[in-house]
Amino acid sequence: MYLYNSATHKKETFTTHTPGHVEMYTCGPTVYHYAHIGNLRSYIMEDVLEKFLRYEGWDVHRVMNITDVGHLASDADTGEDKMLKGAKREHKSVMEIAKFYTDAFFADCEKLNIKTPDVVEPATDCIGEYIKIVSGLIDKGYAYLAGGNVYFDTSKLGRYYIFNDHDEEDLAVGVREGVEEDTNKRNKNDFVLWFTKSKFEDQALKWDSPWGVGYPGWHIECTGISLKHNGEYLDIHCGGIDNAFPHHTNEIAQSEAYLGHPWCKQWFHVHHLNTNSGKMSKSKGEFLTVSLLEEKGYDPLAYRLFCLQSHYRKSLVFTWENLDNAQGTYQKLIRRVAALKDGGGAVDQEVVGQYKEKFIQQVGNDLNTSMGVTALYDVLKAKANDETKLAILRDFDQVLGLSLLEKAAALREKEAAQTASTGEGGFTITGEGDPAIDALVLQRAQAKKAKNFAEADRIRDELKAQGIEVTDTKDGAVWKRI
Ligand code: AMP
Ligand code: ZN
Repeated sequence: MYLYNSATHKKETFTTHTPGHVEMYTCGPTVYHYAHIGNLRSYIMEDVLEKFLRYEGWDVHRVMNITDVGHLASDADTGEDKMLKGAKREHKSVMEIAKFYTDAFFADCEKLNIKTPDVVEPATDCIGEYIKIVSGLIDKGYAYLAGGNVYFDTSKLGRYYIFNDHDEEDLAVGVREGVEEDTNKRNKNDFVLWFTKSKFEDQALKWDSPWGVGYPGWHIECTGISLKHNGEYLDIHCGGIDNAFPHHTNEIAQSEAYLGHPWCKQWFHVHHLNTNSGKMSKSKGEFLTVSLLEEKGYDPLAYRLFCLQSHYRKSLVFTWENLDNAQGTYQKLIRRVAALKDGGGAVDQEVVGQYKEKFIQQVGNDLNTSMGVTALYDVLKAKANDETKLAILRDFDQVLGLSLLEKAAALREKEAAQTASTGEGGFTITGEGDPAIDALVLQRAQAKKAKNFAEADRIRDELKAQGIEVTDTKDGAVWKRI
């Protein structure tokens, strides 16, 4: 496939360190609150990327961290620990908060058909890894101790601003609103690898280390977890665009300094979901969740479709009207799939192959998911039997994850159930909704339709004996208790 690489600012042919095998890493959620639908846009697009790579035949090994310590209010290591903030807000312990929101995250992922990565590792489970890497960085002269903390020395690097699309001004730590400058830093972009003496005295989670009791910085977490599970050569690293700087820049700095060789080949960044008033963010406190969409009657997969309809490298504006449109499109799509009949006819493998080839070409062009969605309509219009169409749709859905066939089957079942209570020939049966009586009323309607009036009368009498009166109206049969 061709994929845009944020490290080179170019669309490149996707290649890996070990032919045929992909080591993939994804920055996971900071579990101090529910994931908002913006976060989930990133996870949906990363999920499609993983599924597409598998579909193309790559053997993918995907790792994700769960940030349950060390992510401070500012990505540049200042402010309060987000986990502690969550615990205080809810009068719970940090671990309780972490467990609750980790579970909530995966429940949302399930609703959105986001596959769980092969490895999911909470940051608090890898303290030994961070200590090993930080010790190595100190030994190699890339890190220093100041004011009790261990810092990475960015002046020791030949190159640092790898994703720097920002102005120098924006990068200056300490000039942001409400952010206190850390006077221990030798260079403005140095970052904390390990906190020992910090102003957060009530920090809940602390571990022993060669530099005193403390806790890891946020950036070292991803390096530690990736080196542990992906090995020394990472093929692709994913995250939302806000992670590019300083988080990913710092990950590269420390990983390459520690390893002594290039680390990750490709960087995949998903642009933001915005509302009309700006970026959706957890720290602002007000944001949209999957549960809220469900409460308002939306199918979470309509949101997935909404995300697939636009390119991951463009920011996406969320409005209720846009979501309404996606929901309408999704429902119509399911209805069209439901209309296809699997009568046991032969699947035309040649047609399947042609459509597959085109799909790989289109979606494989920098993960063009909207072309992937368009491909579904091409299949529906194809000159092929329904069995072939269903086979192709099932195949494409392995990548798109819209549950097309499952939802279509559910729709057919629902409609069949409605027909049963409607009766053939348009006999609407209304009453108290007693299934046994509905069934008898339906039998009577069917008998009448078959001109078996004796049977119809017999059922009417049977119902009467049970205290039920049936009246035929122009809309169908209506029953009531007498
Ligand atoms: P967090 O839980 O804050 O660490 O973020 C989890 C993921 O969501 C990261 O990859 C972020 O880059 C990404 N993210 C944060 N805000 C947005 C947004 N508004 N739209 C898309 N992705 C986002
Ligand atoms: Zn990360």
